[in-house]
Amino acid sequence: MALLDRQPSTPHPQNPTMHELFDTHCHLDEDAFAHERDDVIQRAVACGVTRMLSIGTTLASSLRAVELAKVNPHVRAIVGIHPNYCVTAAEDDWAAICELARDEHVLGVGETGLDRYWDHTPIEQQLDYFRRHIELSWQVSKPFVVHCRDAEPETLALLEEMSRIQPLNGAMHSFAGSAETAAKCLELGLLLSFSGMITYKRNEALLNVARSAPLDRIMIETDAPYLAPVPMRGKRNEPAHVRYTLGVLADARQISREDLAATTTTNAIAFFQWPTAKAV
Ligand SMILES: [Zn+2]
Repeated sequence: MALLDRQPSTPHPQNPTMHELFDTHCHLDEDAFAHERDDVIQRAVACGVTRMLSIGTTLASSLRAVELAKVNPHVRAIVGIHPNYCVTAAEDDWAAICELARDEHVLGVGETGLDRYWDHTPIEQQLDYFRRHIELSWQVSKPFVVHCRDAEPETLALLEEMSRIQPLNGAMHSFAGSAETAAKCLELGLLLSFSGMITYKRNEALLNVARSAPLDRIMIETDAPYLAPVPMRGKRNEPAHVRYTLGVLADARQISREDLAATTTTNAIAFFQWPTAKAV
């Protein structure tokens, strides 16, 4: 077991031809997985997805993510309040998130960011919480995870503003922005995490961004239960499906699945500092 931890690119124990994958963003606590959460996790592990990060969107879901991480060695938590839910959060909720962020089962802060598509939360409040998450990331020395929907200029402006205070340690989750936004994010030191969206036919431009991003700055994710990749598109997504996104990206980059699995898993382990003594 310890050997695996030191060498994330070694073959998966249950299948010597399969390499370990890391789903950096899923919502395992959601109702979509009720009654079969354990099966979903086991299916993922059987497909080589030995590490999954369950992301909170509210205090309640962050607490559930931490509980899952405590009982499952393949799962760790990210805690925070999603921009769409800041409007319903109590001020006490934020204090609880700050406390929770220090838990050893928590490897990051989020998801945070800006969402002008749904616009549930007034933008000023979204910006306030976005800043709070980044400050918390500095305080606990754990990375932050950014959600950005229809708000690229505002997101970049805030990231730039915060980067003038202190270097940023963050990742853009399910990156779906332009090549220019990708370049700016990389310049600011962020990593880009790609989801099933790069497998969709009409997203050639996005696949191009994923194809040309530096290999040491990319990760893969499902955002399960959302954004199922082709050929599962339209169905409920789950962490096991991250391999389809890996396949499309490996083909686009003209490298082997094994090499891309090794690279993205190594990147994610280093970025989130997955605790080697307790992994798998
Ligand atoms: Zn998400």
